[in-house]
Amino acid sequence: MLTDELTGLYNRRHLVNVAFAALTQAKREKTSLSILLLDLDFFKRVNDTYGHPIGDEVLRQVSERLRQCSRPTDTLGRIGGEEFCLLMPATHTHDALQVAERLRREIESIALKGLELNATPTVSIGVTTSNGGSFTFDELYSFADKALYQAKELGRNRVESVLPPKTSNFDNIEGAYTHSVIH
Ligand code: GH3
Ligand code: MG
Ligand code: MG
Repeated sequence: MLTDELTGLYNRRHLVNVAFAALTQAKREKTSLSILLLDLDFFKRVNDTYGHPIGDEVLRQVSERLRQCSRPTDTLGRIGGEEFCLLMPATHTHDALQVAERLRREIESIALKGLELNATPTVSIGVTTSNGGSFTFDELYSFADKALYQAKELGRNRVESVLPPKTSNFDNIEGAYTHSVIH
């Protein structure tokens, strides 16, 4: 089983396997790999207000939109209840931030089919990058999670990034983008 039943996206286990292979390749080829962690904002409210089945339908439609908007070389997974991860091989922070901002806008402007909700869903996104594949997925996940936490703290419906500490000269290429914010 590679996919998640509700949304059809890859599940956490598959995403972690793909990440392992992608990080190995990034290390061999000395390329960057970025990850995005996306978490729907105040999603508990959707369930509380409209009921769990409507919440499920919102998750399906948001997932479909994310899938449509992600590039074929990227891997998109649902890794928790209302949390998604996009794995982006050969992607620098600058480009990852642009992708994140595009996805954020897509979700903000989604027209949910057949659902009458008083508010559109929004998503907060944490971004990080491993330069030269020098980090494990768990390490990268924790940086992206920190960035996601910042995005929530700073008001939600926004993108934040946290970059790992520098480990080699290769990393200097992206040093300028540490903690950049786009909104
Ligand atoms: P925040 O902006 O801080 O992320 O707020 P939140 O309400 O999204 O966060 P919280 O972690 O408190 O709640 C997440 C909610 O997501 C809880 C649960 O009701 C809902 N959820 C998780 N998985 C599913 C699912 O499979 N279906 C539905 N309908 N709801 C889910
Ligand atoms: Mg969550
Ligand atoms: Mg949430």
